[in-house]
Amino acid sequence: MSLCDVKHWVFDMDGTLTVAVHDFAAIRVALQIPPEDDILTHLAALPADVAEAKHAWLLEHERELALGSIAAEGAVELVRELAGRGYRLGILTRNARELAHITLEAIGLADCFAIEDVLGRDDAPHKPDPGGLLKLAAAWDVAPSEMVMVGDYRFDLDCGRAAGTKTVLVNLPENPWPELADWHAEDCVALRRMI
Ligand SMILES: [Mg+2]
Repeated sequence: MSLCDVKHWVFDMDGTLTVAVHDFAAIRVALQIPPEDDILTHLAALPADVAEAKHAWLLEHERELALGSIAAEGAVELVRELAGRGYRLGILTRNARELAHITLEAIGLADCFAIEDVLGRDDAPHKPDPGGLLKLAAAWDVAPSEMVMVGDYRFDLDCGRAAGTKTVLVNLPENPWPELADWHAEDCVALRRMI
């Protein structure tokens, strides 16, 4: 299958459609999470009251980032091109759904995604679990092999592989995970030239 034939696209948000701003090391320090731990997995294992307080801090921290979101190079043009062709577009993010909507508004892409096709960390098991992609596949009534997952990190690619979708790595000059990415584009400008 060529990328030109794919009509069902799912995007990671932070660092894929936006300029990456999360300082995950600083977040780990603020929340007393060991440097080697996955943030969401760590929080999920804490007692409920502690987890709730830390999730609340994280949400407020990420809200500030969402309000100041800047679109990644070429992302708006790419998504508008795909939406203009009538393709189905979704978001699968480890961020909170309400912040995903704030972010999409901030970068001017909110109208390109159906509200129910924007999945945050409370809507599906977080990446690299394939649950979110499988949920969109079921909602769209399409085989995962007809879909592509676009992201800037290996969680996005692992997630696509586990769900059986095609995968695209963007926004990295080199591809450190050639076995996980079906296509690699150094940014969304380059990706748009491939469709
Ligand atoms: Mg990302």
